[in-house]
Amino acid sequence: MVKAPEEYPGKKYRGKYCYEHHLVIWGIENRILKENETTHHINEDKHDNKYENLRIVKRNEHNKFHLQTKKESNFHICDGCGKKFYRRVMKKHALFCSRNCYKNNWYKFQKIRDRS
Ligand SMILES: [Zn+2]
Ligand SMILES: [Zn+2]
Repeated sequence: MVKAPEEYPGKKYRGKYCYEHHLVIWGIENRILKENETTHHINEDKHDNKYENLRIVKRNEHNKFHLQTKKESNFHICDGCGKKFYRRVMKKHALFCSRNCYKNNWYKFQKIRDRS
């Protein structure tokens, strides 16, 4: 929460505080959020209240937003069979969709690494 300016028309807490991201939107778009709207932080860092990181979304669609971003970044193409699969990891090394794919393909990646 930050101190709201006198002229800020949005909701004030304890008479003088408001959310920083609401203030940022008001400052740039000159509007306050409607009852059914909320602010989504695009990089999911709730403390990053730069305007570029904010997006106004409908309250009932907000959850969907989070599921979607999570899903997209956790889909990987299996390095063995090429199948798309879901796992919550950062892709740094070869990734396989199953134990079987790993057993059948890990050596290919071993060879690549040995050559370099
Ligand atoms: Zn959000
Ligand atoms: Zn596979």
